[in-house]
Amino acid sequence: MVLATNLGFPRFGADRELKKATESYWKGNSSQDDLLEAGKELRLRHWKMQKDAGLDHIPSNDFSFYDQMLDMCCLLGCVPERYGWPQNSSDGGNVDMDTYFGMARGNDKAPAMEMTKWFDTNYHYIVPEFYEGQDFKISSSKIFDEFDEAKAAGIETRPVLIGPFTFVTRGKFKSENISAADIIPKLLPVYIEALQKLVDKGVSWVQIDEPILAMDMCETGKQNFKPVYEELAKAVPGLNILISTYFEGLRDNMDLAFSLPVQAVHLDLRRDAHQYKDAIGIIPEGMMLSLGLVDGRNIWKNDLHQSLNIIEFVESHIGSDRVMVGPSCSMLHSPVDLDLEVEMDADIKGWLAFSKQKLAEIAVLTKGANEGREAVAGELEASDATVSERKTSSRIHNNAVKDRMAGLSPDMFNRENVFAERQKVQRAALNLPSFPTTSIGSFPQTQEIRKARAAFKKGNLDEASYTEAMKTEIQSVVKYQEDIGMDMLVHGEPERNDMVEYFGEQFDGYAFSKFGWVQSYGTRGVKPPIIFGDVSRPNAMTVEWSKYAQTLTDKPMKGMLTGPVTILFWSFKRDDISYEESCKQIALALRDEVKDLEAAGIKAIQMDEPAIREGLPLRRADWDDYLKWAVDSFKLSVCTVEDATQIHTHMCYSEFNEIIESVGALDADVISIEASRSQMDLLDAFGAYKYPNEIGPGVYDIHSPRIPTSDEMTSLLEKAEKVIDPDMIWVNPDCGLKTRGWAEVEPALKNMVQAAKNMREKRQSAAA
Ligand code: GLN
Ligand code: ZN
Repeated sequence: MVLATNLGFPRFGADRELKKATESYWKGNSSQDDLLEAGKELRLRHWKMQKDAGLDHIPSNDFSFYDQMLDMCCLLGCVPERYGWPQNSSDGGNVDMDTYFGMARGNDKAPAMEMTKWFDTNYHYIVPEFYEGQDFKISSSKIFDEFDEAKAAGIETRPVLIGPFTFVTRGKFKSENISAADIIPKLLPVYIEALQKLVDKGVSWVQIDEPILAMDMCETGKQNFKPVYEELAKAVPGLNILISTYFEGLRDNMDLAFSLPVQAVHLDLRRDAHQYKDAIGIIPEGMMLSLGLVDGRNIWKNDLHQSLNIIEFVESHIGSDRVMVGPSCSMLHSPVDLDLEVEMDADIKGWLAFSKQKLAEIAVLTKGANEGREAVAGELEASDATVSERKTSSRIHNNAVKDRMAGLSPDMFNRENVFAERQKVQRAALNLPSFPTTSIGSFPQTQEIRKARAAFKKGNLDEASYTEAMKTEIQSVVKYQEDIGMDMLVHGEPERNDMVEYFGEQFDGYAFSKFGWVQSYGTRGVKPPIIFGDVSRPNAMTVEWSKYAQTLTDKPMKGMLTGPVTILFWSFKRDDISYEESCKQIALALRDEVKDLEAAGIKAIQMDEPAIREGLPLRRADWDDYLKWAVDSFKLSVCTVEDATQIHTHMCYSEFNEIIESVGALDADVISIEASRSQMDLLDAFGAYKYPNEIGPGVYDIHSPRIPTSDEMTSLLEKAEKVIDPDMIWVNPDCGLKTRGWAEVEPALKNMVQAAKNMREKRQSAAA
């Protein structure tokens, strides 16, 4: 019998019940018991849902009140000393809830632990910390309690843990001279004790997540992997272990994965569709293969026929008793329930599956495998119909877009002249002082702005009044910038809720859900828009606003757009064409906007690309390919303007080293980057590489409410000047100001302008 399995279910509830319960607890509006109860209710709901769907292996311990890596820290007793635990624990040997949330969010004892992206997802986990001399011991009963809880409800579960290699390599070594090789042996006895406890409770299968096996692993990691698992398996002989890998193919680690003394290995067949072929060639006798066929990270219905073909092929080689069917990875990265989308366009809804629907797909595939295709004939037929509909639907396929894509020519990816030529013309046209000041785009989004936008969206405010309200805001933002003496102005982006959604709403080929939330971290979720078809721009999107703003001032007004790579990566992507193709379609739509802005008299246009770095593939071998099309897409979107039109871009993260050459290859006339938090250290990358164009290292950290003084910003600029030709330096904040209040922004920008003036004066007196 083929088994229907799952690797993890989204935990915050279809209506984000857990978010509400947790935030209410944090605010002191409800008790700890209320929160525990809310968690229990959700776990039971999700287990029952999976049981009812017909799943054989249902995960437990995939639930979390904040994050699964934080939960692992608690299970293993990996709690940084600064939280004062266990001295003041109120929960026996367990990490108590206050310490738990303290680690996640900071408390009166210490700031929060660091948080970072979980592989290439948009989910952020709490980063474990490792110290020399650290001791570990079981310090949370959560994984045991949840198994008991499900069992009491009549559901036998497969507890999930993050494996030691993934856990440790995703962490940070806080003492010098320690490494994974020091920590893993110390954690191993704790893992063994936990697994033994699970066996004692009657657990027959556990799922140990080791996505690290699908990444580039270092030699030491590769060497230590098998011995550690041998020790682990020897210690708990009665237990069946599934090693789950996801987010990439196993590639060079495939031999290693299948040499482990475990009972099953899970493969992500969405990210690496063909790896099952290699796997069946080397899988040892008796080991099971778990096929990750249903996309855990995207929202498209599965092609059931295609999946069933793979299942049957694998069955014919290793026998049906050795096959499991499941999602590619935990469904944590998918929205919960499509049924709630009652307002969604019926065609589009017909193409989608959220987590609950994915469970049904897994069940159908398993049934088809076990009872024959006739048993699921109706489902297969419906699936085939969807597949062929998506191949031909005029909602998806736009011939005009396809023709333009076919007609792309090399000259469309380059500016007419090289930067040095353009710079001359731009300097003449813009007439800016040295150390020109500008901002990244958005200004504080006040209550009033948000209210007006919401009312307009709901139909409670007519278009004329809404436009009027936005224009009033633009007037005041422009006047403020003129008053303090900024050199290149922005309109402030009051009309934008979000830098991707705003464009998605105006593109053809984009759809939106109402409940399509995916957890991003803690209680936070994002609701990515959905690219379902060929993307085009039926009408100009930003031109009227920018044009209006330019009428209010003689200073140059910067047009503000979001770049194609960022729009792609912050959306649900199509699975029927390549990322590259989708991205270039978006680039063409933006190219039209750029052209229209230029024609409307806008002399500088900024194409934000904060997501370029996060799009980097997990495997280094794939980087060049990605960077090539990412750079090409950016260039396609902007390389339509005259030399005199200045193209800006903006990126806000601090690790440029690895992609600096591609950043240079974008050939933007000006780039603004995040730099103040690292005290300009990251400029080293730009200096070492000799970044050829103009650059605005952020001198004002907008992520903090602190108002920087002009002296501080002057000294940051002095630091920058040592690495970059002062003639090339712009003066700007780190990022957009929309999350800040006017009370901070007003003095901070004034100080920033003063810093630029200081630099100019210093220069003049040096010249005199
Ligand atoms: N132009 C955008 C803004 O100012 C850029 C935001 C971003 O980089 N994340 O808000
Ligand atoms: Zn930014």
